[in-house]
Amino acid sequence: MDKIVALAKRRGFFYPGSDLYGGLANTYDYGPMGVELLRNIKNLWWLTFVTKRADMVGLDASIISHHRIWEASGHVASFADAMVDCKNCRLRIRADHLIEDWIEKNKDARKKAHISEKLTKEELDKAFEIGKVEGWSVEKYDEFILLFNVQCPNCAEHDWTKVRKFNQLFPVQLGLVEGEGGAGYLRGETAQGMFVNFQNVVNSTRVRLPFGIAQIGKSFRNEITPGNSIFRTIEFEQGEIEYFFDPNKTNWEEKFEEWKKIMWHFVTKKLGIKEENLRWRPHTDEERSFYSKRTEDLEYKFPFGIKELWGLAYRTNYDLTQHQEFSKKDLSITDPQTNEKILPHVIEPAVGINRLVLAVLVDAYKEEDPSTGSGQARVVLSLPAHLAPVKVAVFPLLANKPELTEKAKEVLAMLQNDINGKVQWDDRGNIGKRYLAQDEVGTPFCVTIDFNSLEDKAVTVRDRDTAKQERVKIEELVGYINERLK
Ligand code: ATP
Repeated sequence: MDKIVALAKRRGFFYPGSDLYGGLANTYDYGPMGVELLRNIKNLWWLTFVTKRADMVGLDASIISHHRIWEASGHVASFADAMVDCKNCRLRIRADHLIEDWIEKNKDARKKAHISEKLTKEELDKAFEIGKVEGWSVEKYDEFILLFNVQCPNCAEHDWTKVRKFNQLFPVQLGLVEGEGGAGYLRGETAQGMFVNFQNVVNSTRVRLPFGIAQIGKSFRNEITPGNSIFRTIEFEQGEIEYFFDPNKTNWEEKFEEWKKIMWHFVTKKLGIKEENLRWRPHTDEERSFYSKRTEDLEYKFPFGIKELWGLAYRTNYDLTQHQEFSKKDLSITDPQTNEKILPHVIEPAVGINRLVLAVLVDAYKEEDPSTGSGQARVVLSLPAHLAPVKVAVFPLLANKPELTEKAKEVLAMLQNDINGKVQWDDRGNIGKRYLAQDEVGTPFCVTIDFNSLEDKAVTVRDRDTAKQERVKIEELVGYINERLK
């Protein structure tokens, strides 16, 4: 992970937020390379789930939203993390994360455990078996920490405060004078935008059940616990889909399986993430929301553990029911065949785009030693070409020879015109160093214009993955690259 974070900073993928002023915990700024990768992933998501599907429509709802939305959704009352503080070093950490990480490192501890009144034998067995304790009560967390004398991962002491709940929603003060005006919230998820606009969408489009509403946008959560780089931040981008259906006509279990396949396909085939680094994990009864009939997480093997990438939940019609009750408006729709009123159910695939960025980076990161691959020691990001921030880099062999730079500028202009993606210019340092810099940001092709190019009207194209070089006629260059970018 340290290597990925160092690469991200060195090559402009992402930097700690507010870096100039000493940083602001759990925030990151995306640099020139990161912003291209982020956009490429967002565009691919939108293209796949909205543009190319007849049964999906898009939405872009406001980030600042009415407090009633979040009361109806249940976030005001229960969108809270159970936190505990180390009295010695003041580390504040999510109790479930503390315990889960501790179990991971102390699997044998179960054998020595006593049976406690607050934690049953079954609960403890399960916790050690699956390594998950999310959704436990505050008292159970306290009991576990005490029972197993859990150590602070920061200072190795054992002196903890009681576990307490912290709400994660960010309130915003609306109105001109402080204290005046109604409270709003920065949205804690994009999903509520789809529910509160459900009637608007139905009334203003030609959608018919089953159909989905999709949205990409920022969400905000007051995450106090250390975030593992961009994996967990207080401001992040979500890509969420609410797929509405009539449970009498659509079998939810079949739909759920269908969505699992679609998500798996997107992650493995479109983002190029290796299957062996992915798995499905059904939620335990304790962690699953009470209204959900089934929830599964698509998890990725990050360097810091196997963690949630993309959640899939069957939420019944809980959200529409809540908003109907709180708004006192009828949100049902009429079945055109039976004239019956129904309040549709939903299946929700919800992903953090930033987590996709991190998984793609981790999965593509390779260190080659001189005995393999290119025969060089190098760091390569083997990104799928369609995700690469830069598609082609153009190098004049020497920066101080006008005849070379002129020809190279012609090639640059031609590629910028005819290649779908960013083309970069680099005339600094020797060619070997320029190759290595492009390898680190995953540029699939480097094109060098040398003195021979002026005679034979050809350039050297170097492939990122094989490091092989090929001479290609300038007039055939666009076709050559486009063919390989597909
Ligand atoms: P976690 O258990 O990791 O906190 P969650 O179960 O609260 O996640 P959801 O509410 O299901 O997450 O949100 C849907 C998706 O949004 C997650 O699968 C994840 O990819 C992403 N996500 C949630 N919280 C964050 C965060 N703080 N930073 C980045 N991405 C996030």
